[in-house]
Amino acid sequence: MKHTAMYAACFAILAMGYFGGSSVFAQQTDSTTATSSEGLPVLTPQEEQQKSNWRSSSNMVRTRVEQLSAEPQASLPIPILFGVTRSNLTANFGDPRSGGRTHEGLDIMAPRGALIVSPTAAVVLGRGVWAGAGNYVSTANPGGETFVYMHLDQPSALNSGDLLEPGDLIGFVGNTGNAAGGATHLHFEIRKNNVATDPLPRLTQDLALAEKIKFAEKILSRSPDRVSLVRFLVATYGSELGTAKSSAVTLPTDIEQEMQRVANERATGAAAFTNLTFGARSEEVVAMQNFLILQNKGPAAQTLARAGATGYFGAITQNALNEYRGTSPIVTPPWAGSGQATLPASSTSSVPTSNLTIGARSGEVVWLQAFLISANAGPAAQYLARSGATGYFGGITRAALAEYQNRMGIFPAVGYFGPLTRAYLNSL
Ligand SMILES: [Zn+2]
Repeated sequence: MKHTAMYAACFAILAMGYFGGSSVFAQQTDSTTATSSEGLPVLTPQEEQQKSNWRSSSNMVRTRVEQLSAEPQASLPIPILFGVTRSNLTANFGDPRSGGRTHEGLDIMAPRGALIVSPTAAVVLGRGVWAGAGNYVSTANPGGETFVYMHLDQPSALNSGDLLEPGDLIGFVGNTGNAAGGATHLHFEIRKNNVATDPLPRLTQDLALAEKIKFAEKILSRSPDRVSLVRFLVATYGSELGTAKSSAVTLPTDIEQEMQRVANERATGAAAFTNLTFGARSEEVVAMQNFLILQNKGPAAQTLARAGATGYFGAITQNALNEYRGTSPIVTPPWAGSGQATLPASSTSSVPTSNLTIGARSGEVVWLQAFLISANAGPAAQYLARSGATGYFGGITRAALAEYQNRMGIFPAVGYFGPLTRAYLNSL
C-alpha cells in the first residue's frame, strides 16, 4: 500500500516511452544497480530479452494501441473477477503516504491468487518487477489511458504488445514489492497524460455471473495448470459458484466436478453435516447447501436451488437435507394437510407480486394476511387472526410475517414481503 509518486512517475515514463519511438528501457538502469530507494525498475531476464526485441516489436504495439477506442470507457467492472463487490471497496486514492506523497491508486483487498482481469480491451505495455510495485503489469486502454496493476503474486505471463479482451487475465493478486509482509491486495492505477485519477468512482459496471463464468472459462482454457486453478476457484469462491449453479449458469465440467468432490469430501467426513443445526449460519452451511443442490435428490433440493446457497440453515435447507438422507420426515409447513389453509377470497388469488411493507393497503395485503392467519406460525398469527385480514399492512401484520419468516428460515426475518418470501411461497 505504500506506493510512491516516484514509482508512478516511472510507470508514466514507461508507458510514454512506447509512443516516443525509443526504448522505454533506456530510462532504466541495469538490474544489478537498481535500488528501491530510487524507485527504479529491476529487469528480469525476460525483460532483457524484450529489450533486445524492442525495436522490432514497437511498431506492432503502437499499431495495436492506436486501434483501441479513442474514448475512455467511463464505467468499468472491478478488475478482480470473483469475490469483490463495490461494497467491499474502500476509498484510498489520495491518502497521504510517507515523504509528503499521496497514494496514486486504489487498493483492492483480495486473497492471494485472486484473478486480476482487464476491465476493457487493452494492449499490454509492460510487465516486470520493481522494488516498490513488486510484479506489475501496465496496459494501454481506450481513450489514451494507462492502467497499472501492482503487487502481483507471480510475474505475469503477458508480454508487451499482447492484445487483451475484457475479462482476460492480467495476473494473480499477491503482496510483492513494498506490500511484502502485509495483506495481499491489488494496487490499481488509472493514468492519463501522467496524471493519476481515482479508479473507484468508475468501478460501477456489474458483470453478470454468467459473464464472469465465461471469462473464467477462457482463463482456465489458457491456464498452464488448470487443475490447480479449478481447485483454487472452488475452494475460494464456492459460494459464488454455487449461486451461479443454482441460477442455471452452466459451469465448466471440471469446476462442477470439483464442487461435487469437495461437497462429497465434506459429506463423508466426520462432520457429515451433523454438527449443523437449524438456524445455523456459516460457510459450512453454504457447503452443505451446494452439496444438496448438486445432489438434486428431488423437489426439496430444487426448492433450495431456487433459494440459492445463502449460508442460512432454515426450513428449505432442512427439507433438502431430510430428502437427501431419506431418513427423517420432510418438515411439513404448519398449514399443510390441516385443511385450514384456503386461498383468501380477495381481488388477488395468487402470491403477491408487489413488495409489501408497513403502510401498504391493497388486495395483496388481504391475501398475505389471510395466508399468515391460515399458516398460523405462532402467537403473532393468532393476534392477526383476531383483527382479521383488513388489507392494511401495520405492525400486527409485520409481526405475523416476521414470525412466519423466522419459522420457515426465510432470512432476514424482519416482516418485509419481498423477493425472498415471494420465491419461498411460490415454491410451496
Ligand atoms: Zn496501493
